[in-house]
Amino acid sequence: MALAEQGSTHAGAPAAHSPRSSRPLVAMDTVSKVFSNGTVALSGMSMTVRPGEFISLLGPSGCGKSTALRIIAGLGGISEGAIDWPSFRINARGLPDGDIGFVFQEPTLMPWQTVFGNVYLPLRLKGMSKKAAAGRIDAALESVGLKDFHKAYPRELSGGMKMRVSIARALVTEPKLLLMDEPFAALDEITRQKLNDDVLDLWKTTGITVIFVTHSVYESAYLANRIVVMKARPGRVHADFPLHTSLERDAEYRVSEEYRQACAEVSGMLSEAMGGEEH
Ligand code: ADP
Repeated sequence: MALAEQGSTHAGAPAAHSPRSSRPLVAMDTVSKVFSNGTVALSGMSMTVRPGEFISLLGPSGCGKSTALRIIAGLGGISEGAIDWPSFRINARGLPDGDIGFVFQEPTLMPWQTVFGNVYLPLRLKGMSKKAAAGRIDAALESVGLKDFHKAYPRELSGGMKMRVSIARALVTEPKLLLMDEPFAALDEITRQKLNDDVLDLWKTTGITVIFVTHSVYESAYLANRIVVMKARPGRVHADFPLHTSLERDAEYRVSEEYRQACAEVSGMLSEAMGGEEH
């Protein structure tokens, strides 16, 4: 567990809709984050992440979504409160040891490496040989629909394909938790919808837990089974609610009344969080 200097050690509140018996992956308890320039990025943020959830972290720019995601990944320290990763191996610094995949807004691929070389990177850093890693790299590339692209270079790929490589690189270590920070914001709408469907398929077939940062009401309502709406200045949770549907989330769902209602509900919460600002 990582604790702020004056932090408490209490576990966070459980998610409203998840089985209480399963051990959480992450428990953030009244976490605050103040940057060295005095910016209060988060204040009193509590959130418990349970296995199998698809959480959408939604909120206006600057409300602390990326900061929260980095803290969950163990990439950023906290100023107050406590964070714990009860289902992960914890290293000597009190942080989760691997097992968490991170996908950024930019694919951040190495242009001089092939697709294979880029996906191999996290395993190479763990000291795994190319030969030992090959099976996992194949599986990761297959899971994002790129099994025939081992030898391609990033410059030969479309924006959507580069993002798929970036997702494969995050999956190759077989993480329990996948963190995605506005991964499709720079893509055109059709590619974005296709990738949304592919991420949903991945989630369904692997059982991986996903936290997906977005500022799109439509994307969050399509993907998530739990929505956490954040409020800015300082960043904190405004609303945290389940989003269930009896329908398959597919092209038909996109034009269904149920999806329209889900969007209206999420949009209403976001408007509340923004206190009437445009979004
Ligand atoms: P979001 O992802 O919701 O857009 P961020 O987590 O990126 O929000 O930022 C939250 C607040 O923290 C913003 O005011 C931002 O300017 C500030 N911030 C983010 N990173 C830093 C940093 N490294 N140093 C100082 N301020 C930062």
